[in-house]
Amino acid sequence: MIIIMKPSATSAEVDSVVHRIRDLGQDVHLSAGEARTIIGILGDTQRLNRNSFEVMAGVEQALRVSQPFKVASREFQATDTVIDVRGVKIGGEHFVVMAGPCSVESRSQLLETAHAVKEAGAHILRGGAFKPRSSPYSFQGLGEEGLEYLVEAREQTGLPIITEVLGANEVPLVAQYTDILQIGARNMQNYRLLQAVGKVDTPVFLKRGMSSTLQDLLMAAEYILASGNYNVILCERGIRTFTRFTRNTFDINAIPALKQLTHLPVIADPSHGTGKWDLVAAVAKAGLIAGADGLMIEVHPHPAEAWSDGAQSLKPQRFAELMCDLRALAPLAHRLL
Ligand code: PEP
Ligand code: MN
Repeated sequence: MIIIMKPSATSAEVDSVVHRIRDLGQDVHLSAGEARTIIGILGDTQRLNRNSFEVMAGVEQALRVSQPFKVASREFQATDTVIDVRGVKIGGEHFVVMAGPCSVESRSQLLETAHAVKEAGAHILRGGAFKPRSSPYSFQGLGEEGLEYLVEAREQTGLPIITEVLGANEVPLVAQYTDILQIGARNMQNYRLLQAVGKVDTPVFLKRGMSSTLQDLLMAAEYILASGNYNVILCERGIRTFTRFTRNTFDINAIPALKQLTHLPVIADPSHGTGKWDLVAAVAKAGLIAGADGLMIEVHPHPAEAWSDGAQSLKPQRFAELMCDLRALAPLAHRLL
């Protein structure tokens, strides 16, 4: 069971609910967010009476949540979470497109791409400065220099920026620059990192691990929510299967399934989901129709020369054509684009 306190609840009111739960012999998990405190009652709550909490001062609601993920669940919140990133809305009726290179390679590469995706109608600029690479000998990203180029691109285009944070100790540094913190597939269950991004108020973009179930993903999101950051965006980016024709298998089922299970926005990443640029547009359109709240697409001015993920990157012109198709399809999916 979870007890949702009113935004106006005082700390004395929170304390008396906590004492009451402990007196009943149950353990408590406290999550003090910016807006309100949520008190989780751990263990078997079958014999507890909801009403006995709802009459207490400062309590808004006591809820039984059958899913293991509590705050992330639709039972906890029926309406879609809508996250505002510098005026760009993510979730609800909105359809957001995040585009840019896999890696920030140089100032000119990033600025050229940023202007091109802005021109085509993208809402948010992506670009990795700290890269999680399978090989230690591959390009690891420009680090803080890359973050500076992202900020310059934001100043020039007005596009908010998203970039990956690799480790818990780098969260304060990356959060100083970026508008959205990306957690990559390889780090989805790095619980210390999840707790660290849960303690800042920058929105978090959480990518599904390559062999994770939807429950694993939602439990990872729960770590961030339980640490107090409610601005979490989920991303389906393909999972590992036996097929080798594509880099990953984009799990189209995950989109409507997640929309059923959670109120958090769900973004489709057809670039990593396919690994092949000539499959990206088809899967992007499928993602929109399946009910995604947006897309993340890798775009590079010269994919053949890209330092990472060139094979799945769209040239700016093809990205612009995809944006036209998406605009035509958006009304069918009841989305604003
Ligand atoms: C990326 O977005 O470039 C990336 C590394 O993605 P993923 O974590 O999904 O592999
Ligand atoms: Mn990439």
